[in-house]
Amino acid sequence: MTIHPKNINIAEVVQHDIAHHFHPFTDHKAFHAAGGPRVITQADGVYIWDGKGNKILDAMSGLWCVNIGYGRKELADVAYRQMLDLPYYNTFFKTTTVPATELATKISSLLPKRFQHIFFTNSGSEANDTIVRFVRHYWKLKGKPYRQHFIARTRGYHGSTMVAVNLGGMSGMQGQGGTLFPGFHHVQQPHWFDFGGDKTPEQFGLDAAADLEKKTIEVGPDNVAAFIGEPIQGAGGVLIPPSTYWPEVQRICKKYGILIIADEVICGFGRTGNWWGFQSLGFEPDIVAMAKGLSSGYQPIGAVAISDTLTKDFFELGGDFNHGMTYAGHPVAAAVALKNIEIIEDEKLVERVAELAPYFAKGLASLNDHPIVGETRSMGLIGAIELSKDKATRARFHDSGRVGTICRDHCFANNLVMRACWDTMVLAPPFTITKKEIDEIVRLARVALDATYADVKGEM
Ligand SMILES: *Cc1c(COP(=O)(O)O)cnc(C)c1O
Repeated sequence: MTIHPKNINIAEVVQHDIAHHFHPFTDHKAFHAAGGPRVITQADGVYIWDGKGNKILDAMSGLWCVNIGYGRKELADVAYRQMLDLPYYNTFFKTTTVPATELATKISSLLPKRFQHIFFTNSGSEANDTIVRFVRHYWKLKGKPYRQHFIARTRGYHGSTMVAVNLGGMSGMQGQGGTLFPGFHHVQQPHWFDFGGDKTPEQFGLDAAADLEKKTIEVGPDNVAAFIGEPIQGAGGVLIPPSTYWPEVQRICKKYGILIIADEVICGFGRTGNWWGFQSLGFEPDIVAMAKGLSSGYQPIGAVAISDTLTKDFFELGGDFNHGMTYAGHPVAAAVALKNIEIIEDEKLVERVAELAPYFAKGLASLNDHPIVGETRSMGLIGAIELSKDKATRARFHDSGRVGTICRDHCFANNLVMRACWDTMVLAPPFTITKKEIDEIVRLARVALDATYADVKGEM
């Protein structure tokens, strides 16, 4: 493929960006000190190109979303045709468009039978906002208006709107902008590396789940509306719970009549080697949030699947659901999502993730001999490398996130995108990645780890 078009004046874009673009999730002082943004101009397969012509291996699929890889012309064609046929119409007031309805039908067919109805949003955050609106209203309709409380996990990530921040367990986000609402509670995240101590992962999984029961009793079992969790916590650092965790969470939720919400925004559509993370982790949710993998990031779209037990009551009890976004089920986004799913099915990409999983895991595990690697773990094509200053005790470096950032910068400098969640390096490459490209990730990761080690050796 041709390197970035010559007609882009990158220096000017950088200048304009500094002058006019207010970036999300950015330390603005550091951004300006660094001389502005890195401009990404093109992408193909698992690679992105920046304005300087560097070819960079994107081991993060953008933000965990470009699952079918970059450069899929089929999706552009579908979007173009849909824009000509019907660029927009809404789905409010007893109206629909063909792509919205077809996509709801398709998503439903990929889920267990009890999920017959799909509500559309434009993002994962909105999906989770929708769920809170729906669940609270549902319990009121059911004559249990006291069931209004949500329990989630520390370092869970459920998006960045006001409600999504409350569901999330990111302390840095919760502190900003007066976002702390009543009725949201957090329990221990099932992260054995940091909190497991001398326990076996299986024992630790049960103990982390027990924290949910403790919190439920504290809040009052009748007051708890739902428990929400990512099957694998992504932005929290790819926290893959021990096998005992989710089944125990499910047992506790059943015992107290608490709904289970699976936030499948990252895990959904094949990331873990099954269509859904709950299939890989062993639990049965009542509600499913999805977004990223739904369109592989080619269009902004999210959705909520609600089980029949809930929708049946909801439809019978009646009344307006006074909630919805202008672009819910947007025909272009829906058409693109449908094509994305078709590609995943035709190319058997979920099976491919499952097949590549052991190879990916082995590649990461080959880094275990590195002096600053405390642990590697993965499931399907999502993985993590824990940075630690002492393997035996799993000790962390001082100032959480500092060494992770150093490592991430070394990755960038060596044309690899790997993200740092505090001192956990995380990876989620496109499903289309080849074994050779996995080898390249591992090779570049070692180069970055070596450079990081050189920087922090004195602290060990
Ligand atoms: C990214 C993410 C969200 C938020 O999705 P947006 O589209 O950014 O609003 C929610 N949940 C999880 C698990 C995510 O990774």
